[in-house]
Amino acid sequence: MISLEHVSKTYEAGIPALDDISLHIEPGEFVFITGASGSGKSTLIKLMLNELKASKGTITVGGQNLNKMRHRQVPMFRRRIGTIFQNFRLLPDRNVYENVAFAMRVTESRKRDIQRRVPMVLTLVGLASKYKSLPRQLSGGEQQRVAIARAIVNSPKLILADEPTGNLDNKNAWEVMQLLEKINQDGTTVVVVTHNIEIVKAMKKRVITIKRGCLVSDVEGGTSPKHV
Ligand code: ADP
Ligand code: MG
Repeated sequence: MISLEHVSKTYEAGIPALDDISLHIEPGEFVFITGASGSGKSTLIKLMLNELKASKGTITVGGQNLNKMRHRQVPMFRRRIGTIFQNFRLLPDRNVYENVAFAMRVTESRKRDIQRRVPMVLTLVGLASKYKSLPRQLSGGEQQRVAIARAIVNSPKLILADEPTGNLDNKNAWEVMQLLEKINQDGTTVVVVTHNIEIVKAMKKRVITIKRGCLVSDVEGGTSPKHV
């Protein structure tokens, strides 16, 4: 699903934010990416989304070589990936239903399909009864669940989440992670950047650790990751 071969990224005139990273993520995997603040985790996610270009190396996502992707292919490529961020990024003046429906409208889904699919995903994230609420009327955990509904509404094969629990308390963080686990169990590849060591340890998934731009460990579920 995702393949990086000797990827480095250097922002203008600096030390590399990522240095010679090689990693492979198979379809259907659930992978945590962890590491200290500034270690390069968000840079890695942005490279996978083709928001940034690698300075060196090759990146392939969903069979597409990002180095060779043309500008006009990028929007279509991104629509096939569900993204979730720390700060939710909901439309503040649209209600829950509209925030999720919007993601289908931009893909030119038929009205009938939107009307069928949006209530389905809102039910999945436990927010069917709040479909008329505005984001500001929801708790942080609820807002993030709307963002998850929006991320999955177009049935992506891949979800990339950059610190999705960074603004949540422990209870909501667990709910969000369990939801991501359920989505993964339904067949979607899930990559989650997180600081939450307690959750990482408990969930026993593959854990990739980045330290100062270098991949320092990549361990399968259950093994205690080396936190650095
Ligand atoms: P993390 O998500 O792990 O906190 P980032 O990927 O955001 O780390 O950042 C990795 C390194 O790259 C940091 O040293 C950061 O200062 C630097 N960096 C990130 N974005 C930019 C940018 N747009 N321009 C220059 N340097 C950046
Ligand atoms: Mg980050």
